[in-house]
Amino acid sequence: MAAHPETILILGGTGEARRLADELCRRPHTRVVTSLAGRTTEPAKLPGEVRVGGFGGSQGLSCYLREEKVALLIDATHPFAATISANAAEACASLGIPCLRLERPPWRPLPGDNWREVPDIAHAAATIPAGARALVTVGRQEIAPFLARDDIRIVARMIEAPDAPPPHHAELLLARPPFTPDDEHRLLRERQIDILVTKNAGGTATVAKLMAARGLGLPVIMVARPHKPPVPTAPDVAAILEMLER
Ligand code: NAP
Repeated sequence: MAAHPETILILGGTGEARRLADELCRRPHTRVVTSLAGRTTEPAKLPGEVRVGGFGGSQGLSCYLREEKVALLIDATHPFAATISANAAEACASLGIPCLRLERPPWRPLPGDNWREVPDIAHAAATIPAGARALVTVGRQEIAPFLARDDIRIVARMIEAPDAPPPHHAELLLARPPFTPDDEHRLLRERQIDILVTKNAGGTATVAKLMAARGLGLPVIMVARPHKPPVPTAPDVAAILEMLER
């Protein structure tokens, strides 16, 4: 009789999660389930099984892990998705299920960078000088405090539009990464941007804006990552796979 497959739950919503699912689906006797929050209307196709929507807090996640006989959880969510990571660590600890995290390293300032690090989105919105023209790349869900600043001009770039139309002092730019340094340079010049606002997402898909800002000598308001509970963490898919081998 064939051995019962081992179920691995990936908490997804990132490119890394998709690449990890690709790799894990090639392993024998492995059932791979990727969980998505359901924020994106047309998520990219994923190998393996996919489930969509919240679990209902850490308790709901515990129930799911038990019912689906999950042997291992890999938290491959975005570095700024703090609630689901805390819930995952708590649920796994309560059931004695191993929890690993796949998290790309944060960006670090390089020579020529002019960063102002702030602890959260509220501080980022408050830090933009009056009269500035800001390119704001924090995503649809956290754009509200910036749109509330009617003393600045905003170019708000995001993948999907927010529910409400932007106010007169804001321009919406819908675009999906990756972006090239040349494109970013052109955007900053054409829109006469004098300050860039970004979360410290890390990785390569959206790093070009930092290169362009450096080249133009523009200041950057950099939102620091939120705290996540300490669990064994790997910086990329290869390192997670090595951890699994061990
Ligand atoms: P969050 O604040 O940490 O989570 C809020 C709630 O959304 C969680 O409590 C959970 O609901 C549900 N949730 C989040 N991720 C989930 C997942 N992978 N599967 C099932 N439920 C999930 O997360 P967020 O910042 O809103 O991000 C939501 C998703 O978008 C994440 O999967 C993340 O990887 C992706 N994402 C986030 C960002 C960002 O900047 N935050 C950027 C790119 C992609 P319940 O409590 O009901 O379980």
